[in-house]
Amino acid sequence: MSLLRPVWAQIDLSAIAANVEALSDLLQPPTLLMAVVKANGYGHGAVQVARVALSSGAQRLGVAILDEALELRSAAIGAPIQLFQETPAQAARQVVDADLIPTVVSFELAQALSAAAVERGKTVKVHVKVDTGMHRLGIPPEQAVGFVAACRELAGLEVEGVYTHFAVAECPHGEATVLQKQTFDEVLAALENEGILPPLRHAANSAATILTPESHYDMVRCGIAVYGLHPADTTRDAVSLRPALSLRARISALRRIEAGEGVSYGHTFKAEGPTRIATVPIGYADGYTRRLSNKASVLVDGRELPVVGNICMDQLLVDAGEAEVAVDDEVTLIGKSGRRAVTADEIARLTGTINYEVVCAISPRVPRLYT
Ligand SMILES: *Cc1c(COP(=O)(O)O)cnc(C)c1O
Repeated sequence: MSLLRPVWAQIDLSAIAANVEALSDLLQPPTLLMAVVKANGYGHGAVQVARVALSSGAQRLGVAILDEALELRSAAIGAPIQLFQETPAQAARQVVDADLIPTVVSFELAQALSAAAVERGKTVKVHVKVDTGMHRLGIPPEQAVGFVAACRELAGLEVEGVYTHFAVAECPHGEATVLQKQTFDEVLAALENEGILPPLRHAANSAATILTPESHYDMVRCGIAVYGLHPADTTRDAVSLRPALSLRARISALRRIEAGEGVSYGHTFKAEGPTRIATVPIGYADGYTRRLSNKASVLVDGRELPVVGNICMDQLLVDAGEAEVAVDDEVTLIGKSGRRAVTADEIARLTGTINYEVVCAISPRVPRLYT
């Protein structure tokens, strides 16, 4: 593969496959595994990840929005795809035409989907989301039975699923999780009382999949773990995952500076003694956040070198000291080099965020290289 620029995100698809297999091993058949590939597959490339996940044991795909689902369909991916966010009612026809599985929490959307399905002579499968405590999206539990029952009256519409989402899944025995599961179970029991048995009940994200087998129901929805990253420290001992993404570049320039000289905008770093500064052609517009300025380290041939001065939009600077580095040497910003590694977790810790944000921030202008 010829690269457009000496910067690339390397995605190890065998790691994705191994992670999907490890997650599948946690499930009791016939529980289904949905691979969540929203946000361009958490920055890894939605189409490539979806294909590997589906051939390694996932049966379904999950995305946030319609555009993401349509991208998968354009790539001839025919597996069931669920939309987590509510689609605007005006998009009902596109949802039906692409055979997507929308989340429904408003009756207006349910009606629009029904009308579109009838018009096309199709049945649209929908999943109703219940807000059991995340308080982000969903029908209040006490209204769930009435809502599902009303949806079932609509022509061309099938309530295939009822689901919820945990707010504190990394604490399986915490009050919040226990209460949310209890509320969800009450909703499912109330539905059953009315003779309603949705075939797919689901609640678990990666953390719940790994930590709470009782939350698996008929399907689990795994995102971050598919990519080999842990949703929380609490899952580290419970399953073995392999990070799939490395972020790399090549040194584009090397120069010597003297004691007291500053580097980059604002001269926020000044050399204590004579040293060598390496330029790396990646910056915050590539998703390597400026908040890592004077904090992060990169690896060159297994050696750790500090990022110095303010990170620019398209370039950053590294203090190479007297290390044996040269122009064109490979720089690892995330991933392994020799016996060392920089993890997405480490980058997240340095910037007060989570590994999720680190990988999905890697911008579209960074070429993805699949190995
Ligand atoms: C993103 C998302 C998931 C996946 O969460 P992870 O923590 O990445 O496993 C599951 N369900 C819903 C509704 C989501 O939005």
